[in-house]
Amino acid sequence: MAKHVPAARKEYTWESENPYYEKKKYPEPTVCEDCGAVYRDGRWQWPQEGENFGPDVNKALCPACRRKRDKYPGGFVYLSGSFFKEKREEIMNRINNTVEEITAQRPLHRILWIKETEDGVEIATTTERFARHIGEAVYSAFKGELDVNYNENEKLARVFWRRDLP
Ligand SMILES: [Zn+2]
Repeated sequence: MAKHVPAARKEYTWESENPYYEKKKYPEPTVCEDCGAVYRDGRWQWPQEGENFGPDVNKALCPACRRKRDKYPGGFVYLSGSFFKEKREEIMNRINNTVEEITAQRPLHRILWIKETEDGVEIATTTERFARHIGEAVYSAFKGELDVNYNENEKLARVFWRRDLP
């Protein structure tokens, strides 16, 4: 299986009309009809427990749910190497903990998919920052080699982490 790279990404000017633009403004409050996140104080947040906005609240798809629907990641993390194969469970657990912690705080930072590749695992994230963050968490816990590529035109980060057994 080859590394998955999106073949054709739609062109956006990356301004407020772009549905994936995380800084886009919405009327407040706006509730995501898919995940229930609420836009207020200028950002997407999880609602308070038991909070109810009523049937007339403004609804939209949040940028993370749009990316999920369109399979349009903002970042990729590629994990590989013989050390990764050996410690895979431990490394993936570490990643899951990081993901849970961050997604609980920041609803737009999410994992879109985790896929097997020829030599490891590919993780697609909604944002480039989240991909970086995951790469840095793995690197700080397990050392190895970390390489971050950011493509300004595509607004896409590719984070490569690799460690081999000595
Ligand atoms: Zn959503």
